[in-house]
Amino acid sequence: MTTSAPATAHRVLIALGGNAMTGPDGSTSWIDQNVAIKAAMEPVADLLATGMAVTLTHGNGPQVGNVLTKNELAAHEMSPVPLDWCGAQTQATIGFTIQDALESALAARGAHRQTVTVVTRTRVDESDPGFTNPTKPIGRYLPRERAELLIAAGQIWQDRGAKGWRRVVASPEPLEILDAQAVCDLGDAGYVVIAAGGGGIPVVRQDDGRLRGIEAVIDKDLTAALLARSIDADVLVIATDVDHAVLGYGTPDQQDIGRVTVSQLEKYAAQGHFGSGSMAPKVEAVLRFARSGHRAVITSLEHIGDAIAGDIGTIVVPD
Ligand code: ADP
Ligand code: MG
Repeated sequence: MTTSAPATAHRVLIALGGNAMTGPDGSTSWIDQNVAIKAAMEPVADLLATGMAVTLTHGNGPQVGNVLTKNELAAHEMSPVPLDWCGAQTQATIGFTIQDALESALAARGAHRQTVTVVTRTRVDESDPGFTNPTKPIGRYLPRERAELLIAAGQIWQDRGAKGWRRVVASPEPLEILDAQAVCDLGDAGYVVIAAGGGGIPVVRQDDGRLRGIEAVIDKDLTAALLARSIDADVLVIATDVDHAVLGYGTPDQQDIGRVTVSQLEKYAAQGHFGSGSMAPKVEAVLRFARSGHRAVITSLEHIGDAIAGDIGTIVVPD
């Protein structure tokens, strides 16, 4: 028997970070990914068991890194696939793994729900500045000679000092979740939907109206904010590996940020409290969603329930 969420339940979008999908040391063997996802689904199942309507999204940085490494190692046998293909592959793999783990965790609670993964495309603009000036490092470091072969094949690689060279790509602004309606309809039908993994598959709309995949990666936190608005979520939860965003990060007197208004958090962001590429995009994501009049939270995975109840985490509320 499948039960759907009560119509009155809050609709919550939870964005899962890398720690939900990799081993404690960052290991990405498939077994370690399975173990991490299994653990991550426990608090999600607790939440679903209360009748809440939950949609999930997730990152994919390490997983895309693995696909790129296979691309590179197999290039002499099989032509490498572009980044939009890599993103689609990781959405499918992470999606089914989450489904298996979540359904088991729900069954253990006697709370059966159907789950589905939506392979999701995110529209970006080809004139986004990221395409002329790519800044997002992806994949593994390589020695110069190996990087030069890939540069000759059209990729952009940068010298990162002692660790070697690393590929950089565009991380364009997500503009539209093209499959949002499917996510909504499936959610309304009672499914727990996993969508827009890795920020979504980056696509651009050509002059003739057709869509085309493009070599880029999209920030999963910014896509989460857009997806939350697109599916009319009540709450956005960015689940990561820290309970709170803090002021004075890494200093002896760092201070947790608890409940905070949009304008106060904007001030903290402008003061440079949040690490670029880590906490800064999460803060930007919660600000965007909270500006649309809703509640958004940054907290650790194990505290998502308390965070939604309002007891823990960095809780951003409209002014
Ligand atoms: P995820 O994989 O969940 O996206 P990230 O590693 O990208 O996680 O971002 C979370 C990390 O951001 C924290 O583990 C912490 O190291 C870092 N960080 C940078 N600035 C801050 C801050 N001001 N407050 C809390 N964490 C911060
Ligand atoms: Mg991150």
